[in-house]
Amino acid sequence: MKLLENKTALVTGAARGIGRSIVLAYAAQGADIAFTDLKVDDDAESLLEELKAMGVKAKAYASDASSFEGSEKLVEEVLNDFGKVDILVNNAGITRDQLLMRMSEQDWDLVIKVNLKSVFNMTKAIQRSMLRQRSGSIINMSSVVGVSGNAGQSNYSASKAGLIGFTKSIAQELGSRSIRCNAIAPGFIETAMTSKLAEDVREEWIKNIPLRRAGKPEDVANVAVFLASDLSSYVTGQVIQVCGGMNT
Ligand code: NAD
Repeated sequence: MKLLENKTALVTGAARGIGRSIVLAYAAQGADIAFTDLKVDDDAESLLEELKAMGVKAKAYASDASSFEGSEKLVEEVLNDFGKVDILVNNAGITRDQLLMRMSEQDWDLVIKVNLKSVFNMTKAIQRSMLRQRSGSIINMSSVVGVSGNAGQSNYSASKAGLIGFTKSIAQELGSRSIRCNAIAPGFIETAMTSKLAEDVREEWIKNIPLRRAGKPEDVANVAVFLASDLSSYVTGQVIQVCGGMNT
C-alpha cells in the first residue's frame, strides 16, 4: 500500500521548484492532486500531464494565495472537484532581497503578503472542512533563515519566522481534532529562486553545509511525504530543517 492512497493534497505555488517535486512525490504515493500557481502556464500543463500519466486524479488552478477572497474561492472549488482535502501544503513564496537600508515599503509588504498572509488565507479557508472530517495535515514552507535570520533578507526572514509562530499556534488550536500542522525549513535548495544567487555567494553557502552540497527539491519533497502521511501521526507543531546540517 502506498503512503498517501485515498488522500487528496492541495499544494500552492507548485508549477515549479519545490512545490512541483512535492506534488510528484505525493502522486507517486497514490495521492490525488489539486495544485495552484499564479497562472496555469506551460509548466503547470506539463505537470498536469505527468500527474495524469501516473494514474491519479489531478487538476491545476490559477490562484493567488496572497488573496483572501481568492483563497476562499479556490478551496470551495477544490472541495467541489475532489470532495475533500486531507493535506494542505502552503508552499507559494517569493523573495525581494535587499539590505534594510535599500528595502522599499513595497518590498516589505509584498513579501509579508505572499509568504505569510497566504498561509493564514489558505489555512483559514480549509479549516472548516478539516474540522468536519476530524483529520488533516497542514505543512507550511518556512526556511532556515526564518530560524536563524539572514542579512539582506529581513523581509523574507520575518515572513518565514512568522510562519513558524503560526504553525505552532495552529498545531495547538486544531490538535484536539487530529489536525496536524508542521513547518519545513529548507536550507539552500537548487530552484529558480536560488539560481538568482551569484556564483561566489553560492560557493560560500556550500562551504558551510556539512553535507557539502545544495539540496534538491526532492530532498524537501521526501520530508513533505513523511509529514503528510500517517508515518508522522504523532508529530505536530514542529519545524523540520532540511538543510544538509547547515543550521546545526
Ligand atoms: P520557485 O520560485 O521555484 O517556485 C515558487 C512558485 O510559487 C512559482 O511557481 C511561483 O509562480 C509560485 N507563486 C509565487 N507567488 C505565488 C502566489 N501568490 N500564489 C500562488 N503561487 C505563487 O521557489 P522554490 O524555491 O520552489 O520555493 C518554494 C517555497 O520554498 C517558497 O515558499 C520558498 O520561500 C521556500 N524555500 C525555498 C528555498 C530554496 O532554497 N529554494 C529555501 C527555503 C525555503
